[in-house]
Amino acid sequence: MDPIQLSQFQSHLLKSKKIIALVGAGLSVSSGLPIIHGTQSLYKNFNSIDLSTPDAFYIDPSLVWQYHSYKRYQCLNASPNNGHIALSKLSQLEELAYLTITQNSDGLISDRIGHDKGKLIEIHGSVFDLKCTSFLCNYVERGNYVHPLTSALKGSEVECVSGSRKRKSELENDVALSPQFTPVKSIPEKELPLFPVCGELLRPGVVWFGESLSLNLISKIDNFIEDSDPSIDLILVIGTSGTVYPANSFIERVKLKGGKIAIFNIDIDDDIVQGKEGGVWGFKGDAAALLPIALKPLIGNI
Ligand SMILES: [Zn+2]
Repeated sequence: MDPIQLSQFQSHLLKSKKIIALVGAGLSVSSGLPIIHGTQSLYKNFNSIDLSTPDAFYIDPSLVWQYHSYKRYQCLNASPNNGHIALSKLSQLEELAYLTITQNSDGLISDRIGHDKGKLIEIHGSVFDLKCTSFLCNYVERGNYVHPLTSALKGSEVECVSGSRKRKSELENDVALSPQFTPVKSIPEKELPLFPVCGELLRPGVVWFGESLSLNLISKIDNFIEDSDPSIDLILVIGTSGTVYPANSFIERVKLKGGKIAIFNIDIDDDIVQGKEGGVWGFKGDAAALLPIALKPLIGNI
């Protein structure tokens, strides 16, 4: 970190009365979660994007639940890092108007690490939330960390069998060297997660491709930015390029309101890193390592 940039940032930080942290997938990388949103990763030979739509769930809830169970398991086994903890500490400062907006649905920022629940917005939902599919019911359960959710979903976390047990003569055939995918089970609907009260199928409480973001959450963020008592001083843009909607619109609005921007990411324009863009600081590297250093004047040592 450039010491001049850091000291300018920290003196603004200490004067700030209202701060937003906007978090993307880059913050969870050092917790062991790959950036998979929007990429062509595979689950048992299915494209993950194809398994993350309302249509896919409607057509084959068994397949989508198995994929989701695999993702939940990965998130359950990931540990929050010092960047997540630094934001939790910001949320605990009573004199600071503060909001964490995360684009991650991995549940790594939560009240489990002391983040104030009322100051956290998960705009893409959470893999640990469940929603009833019945339009009449609207039941939502938050923060369910049970795994597997039903006994039929047991084993769904195993994506492939590594290490073939075939005899040597068979191994010479190169087909035997490729990973063996455990087959996708066909689970009857009554053995998938159901809401006992109405008896209908539950679905993952995440925002899938092709679905709208919650208008309630968006307007909560809008109000937080627009409300000028106190006015917004700073937005921390963490582990995300911030160029995609709605992240870009939040950053633009903070700028219009006179707030400053601090970016913590692996990839930042050189001009920003060198302090050539007014009102924007750029700290290039692993956000999980940089945040505790940058925020130390407010949160102390982690
Ligand atoms: Zn229901």
